Amino acid sequence: MRLDFYLSHVTDLARKAAKIAASKGRVTVNGEVIKKANYTVKEGDQICLDDTLLAWPSEGYYMLHKPAGYVCATEGADHPTVLDLVPPHLGQDLKIVGRLDKDTTGLLLLTTDGQWLHRITSPRSACNKRYKMMLAEQISDEDLQQLEKGVMLNGESQPTLSALAQRLSECDIYLTIQEGKYHQVKRMLAAVGNKVEELHRDQIGPLELDAELAVGEFRALTDAEVAYF
Ligand code: URA
Repeated sequence: MRLDFYLSHVTDLARKAAKIAASKGRVTVNGEVIKKANYTVKEGDQICLDDTLLAWPSEGYYMLHKPAGYVCATEGADHPTVLDLVPPHLGQDLKIVGRLDKDTTGLLLLTTDGQWLHRITSPRSACNKRYKMMLAEQISDEDLQQLEKGVMLNGESQPTLSALAQRLSECDIYLTIQEGKYHQVKRMLAAVGNKVEELHRDQIGPLELDAELAVGEFRALTDAEVAYF
């Protein structure tokens, strides 16, 4: 990890201030003054700022209640990104676990831990994601059964894997899927001649969106929640 990046993680210095601190000779790595902000530091290095020994940052795990209008991109987007909702010193190193469309709301996980992310998103993990949705048209029991058995999505050669579809009302359902193809839920509903009007994810594996978390808020996961995956 770059030295300025590291410093902005473990101290209250922003990236620019971290660069300046290093250039002024305030930082040592393994006893040697390092003035270059792009110097690579690694776990196990003894890194000091003004003679105070700094710790290596621990991994971060968060859940965010994603609002509509935010894209799941780390940079270069034309719209606000979900990372705009977390403080810059946390956001720098965070990866987004899977993707929700710009208009989709609900549970989104963010982490610095690439292996944890992979355990959730890898197709081999078959991790269930539950979506609540409002449909444009009433949905029949036959269509719900079809969604459960699998439907052929436009442009795919294999039907979707088995899913769980639960009716809430004539136009509102829960759909739990284990895959995560591009626009999967919307395409599944299109495959049975319907249209998703509103889409909200409320569960990933055993982890539910915290009901206390207002739209746009995030919180750190507990150790027990991290251990779900
Ligand atoms: N499926 C979709 O179609 N959109 C999402 O945002 C998530 C799953």
